[in-house]
Amino acid sequence: MTKIAPRTDAFGAAYDHPWTRKRTTFEREAIGMSAALPWQAAGAVATTDDRVRLAEHESVVAARDVTRRYGSGDTAVDALRGVSLDVREGELVAVMGPSGSGKSTLMHILAGLDVASGGAVEIAGRDVTKMSDNELTKLRREHIGFVFQFFNLLPMLTAEENITLPLRIAGKKVDAAWLETVLAQVGLGDRRRHRPAELSGGQQQRVAIARALLSRPTVLFGDEPTGNLDSTTSGEILEVLRAAVESYGQTTIMVTHDARAAAIADRILFLADGVIVRELNGATQDQVLDALREVSAR
Ligand code: ADP
Repeated sequence: MTKIAPRTDAFGAAYDHPWTRKRTTFEREAIGMSAALPWQAAGAVATTDDRVRLAEHESVVAARDVTRRYGSGDTAVDALRGVSLDVREGELVAVMGPSGSGKSTLMHILAGLDVASGGAVEIAGRDVTKMSDNELTKLRREHIGFVFQFFNLLPMLTAEENITLPLRIAGKKVDAAWLETVLAQVGLGDRRRHRPAELSGGQQQRVAIARALLSRPTVLFGDEPTGNLDSTTSGEILEVLRAAVESYGQTTIMVTHDARAAAIADRILFLADGVIVRELNGATQDQVLDALREVSAR
């Protein structure tokens, strides 16, 4: 049998990279590995004093005055300095901002992977600041889907096996009809038995999106989902993400540097220095770029 050589084209890095580096908690969780490493929440203190009653409306993610301080004393870094937001069911929200503005920190906190130092967060109507680690893991399994820049597929498994893996690890039954729907939705029906090395970057990202959608997550989080794709493929992946919003009302929160990606969002939040400084209700790529320039110049 011919051994398939690693791809060396423009996507080469995409094939090799995920297997030679340490995975983030997001990534570990999405492929069914144990999620939180105990030391990752060290230093995070959830305060209860300023807790407020959140989401008395249809928000599926709500944050109030969220702060996150890393470290203490002279070397403390305030990554978030009071962020409040509501994401409605069926909404696609993009989060943009200069490097170091707090995007990743915010996403980790909204996904229940990190704990705020202050303020309050509700996911699917539940106050995550009151949850134990086990409850958080369960909440993530049931309510959160992830799509990453580097697709994080297991190379020895077929597309379909990768897609069903998290559910199988969680001991849940795979809904065969829903699997077919999702495969058709992402356009992978004829590639289901291929392994990642036999798929293009765009096809691998389709597999990752299908994997996230299969559990019918309350919220799908995208971490630079087009960051490792060429322009044409990015466009196709953005269409798939937008179609999931249109077809299933899939609530989606996406951190991105890509103005084109942000332009498919219903709402774009701009972070600078740990606070939301600007918000656009839908925008063209040019408007996104203008806003980003303005925010970065602050
Ligand atoms: P972005 O995703 O917008 O680039 P981050 O959320 O990664 O921003 O980081 C926000 C700030 O918090 C930055 O100043 C960064 O250096 C700091 N930071 C992030 N993670 C840690 C950490 N684990 N320890 C200390 N500082 C951190």
